[in-house]
Amino acid sequence: MAEAFYAACILFPMAVLGWLVVRLVLRGSSQVLLCMECEQCMGRCPLVTRKGPDFPGPRGIMVAAKAGRLQKAAEGGALACTNCGLCEKACPRGLAPYQELEVLRRK
Ligand code: SF4
Ligand code: SF4
Repeated sequence: MAEAFYAACILFPMAVLGWLVVRLVLRGSSQVLLCMECEQCMGRCPLVTRKGPDFPGPRGIMVAAKAGRLQKAAEGGALACTNCGLCEKACPRGLAPYQELEVLRRK
């Protein structure tokens, strides 16, 4: 009985984690899994200082995409992103936060 409980304690979180990863991959947002939220992109984004707190910045876009809250972030001002690509150049992992907004824009 105890073994079954311990197995469930391991398998259930793994199943939830696996489902979250599959959901991101199906959405075409697998790059957000690599974002370590280091904020290096924030210093390069011209809109972070220009727009102030209304604009979540590239890190905020990645965090919102990771949490499935991209639509809300877009309504909050994330669509002001100009696709300049400076965040991608600053990212040590070469991630492109602006690409996360492309799906919303196409809609
Ligand atoms: S997108 Fe890149 S630079 Fe920006 S927070 Fe994520 S890992 Fe860091
Ligand atoms: S592509 Fe968008 S988020 Fe990235 S630096 Fe340019 S304006 Fe900022």
